[in-house]
Amino acid sequence: MTRLAGKAALITGAGRGIGAAIALAFAREGAAVVLAELDLDSAQQTAERIRSQTGKGGARVLAVQTDVTQSASVQHAASEAERTFGQPLDVLVNNAGINMFRDPLTLTDDDWRRCFAVDLDGVWNGCRAVLPGMVERGAGSIVNIASTHSFKIIPGCFPYPVAKHGVIGLTRALGIEYAPRNVRVNAIAPGYIETQLTHDWWNEQADPAAAQQATLDLQPMKRIGRPEEVAMTAVFLASDEAPFINATCITVDGGRSALYHD
Ligand code: NDP
Repeated sequence: MTRLAGKAALITGAGRGIGAAIALAFAREGAAVVLAELDLDSAQQTAERIRSQTGKGGARVLAVQTDVTQSASVQHAASEAERTFGQPLDVLVNNAGINMFRDPLTLTDDDWRRCFAVDLDGVWNGCRAVLPGMVERGAGSIVNIASTHSFKIIPGCFPYPVAKHGVIGLTRALGIEYAPRNVRVNAIAPGYIETQLTHDWWNEQADPAAAQQATLDLQPMKRIGRPEEVAMTAVFLASDEAPFINATCITVDGGRSALYHD
């Protein structure tokens, strides 16, 4: 388990869900990991779990309170990581995100701004914090967690897919911009994954059990994905096994977005 040995990685929104699974998978593969998370308690609990499951000491697993909507906050997390690990960041995973599923015409200005602040500005703030060092060193891998909403639209889910389409645009633009400096920028588009976010979505529906069943009925594999299954793809993209994969997006949805239905 040394596919990321010697590397240092920053993962946003790593207190729970997909981000926590990525942090654990990275640590298992030998990386030093910083969990840059809004909720410090959850980040510290996850960091402790990673230490106990990997036998890593505090110098290789760090929790830093971070708000990805604030550029200075992400810069601070990156600086703390580099100071603690004694090495620059090789990998960034922009994972923090929120659902914002509204009717376009009843959406408030605040909800619009909040969605873009976390789901798109947050990704840019992360990139901006690590890119100068990666470009200077001529090495780096950035993995942005997009969504199948990055290329599919469900009515009533506005403006989340608009922001997630933007994540793909940002991934492609930065991937091309810095390819000559050997900095790769890729995205992962998860489908339904078993996290708090998904359960919150079902619970908001009039009949949560029926909503969950309707989701499962449309899954080609008759189940939704696990956070660890997204994490495996993040490990691959972050590692030296993907040196010629750049400015693209890997879908992790069990085939759901290929299914035609009406
Ligand atoms: P969760 O809600 O389970 O976890 C998201 C984490 O991000 C939480 O710990 C949350 O902290 C944190 N976070 C939220 N806002 C900020 C912020 N401003 N700064 C730092 N951290 C923040 O979500 P998932 O694990 O399900 O989703 C992770 C990513 O995957 C998101 O980008 C999401 O859009 C994407 N995705 C998820 C899918 C799914 O089915 N679950 C499908 C497709 C994409 P707090 O607890 O304090 O809110």
